[in-house]
Amino acid sequence: MTEVSLSQVVKRYGQLEVVHAIDLEIRHSEFVVLVGPSGCGKSTTLRMIAGLEEISGGTIKIGDKVVNKLAPRDRNISMVFQNYALYPHMTVRDNLGFGLKIAKHPESEIQNRVEEAAEILGLGMLMDRLPAALSGGQRQRVAMGRAIVRNPDVFLFDEPLSNLDAKLRVQMRTEIKKLHKRVNNTIVYVTHDQVEAMTLADRIVIMRDGHIEQVGTPLEVFDHPVNTFVASFIGSPP
Ligand code: ADP
Ligand code: MG
Repeated sequence: MTEVSLSQVVKRYGQLEVVHAIDLEIRHSEFVVLVGPSGCGKSTTLRMIAGLEEISGGTIKIGDKVVNKLAPRDRNISMVFQNYALYPHMTVRDNLGFGLKIAKHPESEIQNRVEEAAEILGLGMLMDRLPAALSGGQRQRVAMGRAIVRNPDVFLFDEPLSNLDAKLRVQMRTEIKKLHKRVNNTIVYVTHDQVEAMTLADRIVIMRDGHIEQVGTPLEVFDHPVNTFVASFIGSPP
């Protein structure tokens, strides 16, 4: 089943077109990684799926619903950014539950969902701490926890690991993979890091200058790059 579908999606800022009529179909529970050099339109594409940017043309569907005009909160998505904005004055527990609280979920349900997310991400010991007392990796886990508690159909990640040091980045990759296996939601993940893309993706989408150059499994793209750009970006042997 197709979970997210982009059809001839265009983004313009004034006269400048930064995403040129892209098509992309993402299946239910698939882990898809958008990768490409800085400025190629990855974040813009993700933000259009999220509803944080209006689209200038085309159609975006989530599930079987056209969402072109829908507000982010009505799209059944959760987004995790690279600068994981936690509420500094709230404990981990309250950070995790806040989104559900403002959506007016019953207190008992909030508690259950928060406990479950904490268990999945190993946050149990940290629940009463403030963000200032957490390491970078722990903060990132809380940011992911906040996305999980909402139990969306689709997770959107924009370079969630780019502020972490190399060792932690590798560790968090494993965590994200585990998270995907466990909750089995659809994930659209943006990175400029080829290795991260190749390790995480079921399918990888290689972008350049607002176009999609190639879509395929990491192996397909590595073994059969469609052009020299893809080959050199992915590091395929010549
Ligand atoms: P990436 O995430 O791949 O690095 P972006 O999607 O952030 O790339 O940006 C794609 C292009 O759109 C870039 O050329 C960027 O300068 C431009 N861009 C992004 N946001 C805006 C904006 N708000 N106004 C004008 N241009 C923008
Ligand atoms: Mg970006």
